[in-house]
Amino acid sequence: MRAMLLEAPRRPLREVELPRPEPGAGEVLVAVRACGVCRTDLHVADGDLPDPKLPLVLGHEIVGSVAATGAGVERFRSGDRVGVPWLGWTCGECRYCRAGRENLCDRARFTGYQIDGGYAQYTVAAARYVFPIPRMYPDLEAAPLLCAGLIGYRSLVAAGDGSRLGLYGFGAAAHIITQVAKHQGRRVFAFTRPGDGEAQRFACEVGAEWAGDSNVPPPELLDAAIIFAPVGALLPAALRAVAKGGTVVCAGIHMSDIPGFPYDILWGERVVRSVANLTRKDGEEFLALAPTVPVRTQVEPYPLERANEALENLRTGRVKGVAVLQVGTRTSERGT
Ligand SMILES: [Zn+2]
Ligand SMILES: [Zn+2]
Repeated sequence: MRAMLLEAPRRPLREVELPRPEPGAGEVLVAVRACGVCRTDLHVADGDLPDPKLPLVLGHEIVGSVAATGAGVERFRSGDRVGVPWLGWTCGECRYCRAGRENLCDRARFTGYQIDGGYAQYTVAAARYVFPIPRMYPDLEAAPLLCAGLIGYRSLVAAGDGSRLGLYGFGAAAHIITQVAKHQGRRVFAFTRPGDGEAQRFACEVGAEWAGDSNVPPPELLDAAIIFAPVGALLPAALRAVAKGGTVVCAGIHMSDIPGFPYDILWGERVVRSVANLTRKDGEEFLALAPTVPVRTQVEPYPLERANEALENLRTGRVKGVAVLQVGTRTSERGT
């Protein structure tokens, strides 16, 4: 199979031929049709996250069809359309797993980080962590739901149910969460890199009532804010933008250092918290909710071989919506 391989951090992915993986017990082999390009992929490729499997196939927003099943898999059959998310495996035994907080599992393994992911024609996934994909979504449009959508959703739940919601960094997750928040009757305020008029117009197109530079206060105080951009300096800015009792959620897996700030911007029972990973319950809830909104995702397709260009465009903020790799499987390779 063709794959784009990360051989070492801070090096471009290399296009290679790899043997097609075999599904073990409890696993499915997935013929990949689309794989979203997430900011976390950049953090892995850049070496911001420690100890990735190497060499590694990135990608954890995978949509494809089941091409074969390993022993004991009864949930899926060949031909079923499925999505493979970031959470790839949990132990089921640690104190977090037993408390229904498998997103914090001490021994969790993640797709496209410790497990080969979807920048390839095939991938293997543990069937228990794979979701059926709602019928209304074409493959490319479904891919962003699997991380931007469901970790965005977990962040939205963590933000509480206040009506005035600020979103810092307006890319993949924000464009999805804006639609969900509007559907819930909330008001959305979007913050972008200073001067990024295009991102601000995009935010308003998908439903934000105000969009502006992240170094400018919103027109009124907010009840909650979610920081999707990996920029620590946004945390004090967001705290200043939320009213008493407000919550600021840091949704990314990596952030630059947070500068010191005066206690009085936290005072007044403001809360700062992070959101880590996802649970299968988040996935089930969000994938049931998305078609009812209905969430529409705006995607920029790239062929698999152009994964490096997609990553670079994400890094420099040139992607409007979500970059998604389109993965073709030649018919002759499709046997089970
Ligand atoms: Zn565990
Ligand atoms: Zn992601």
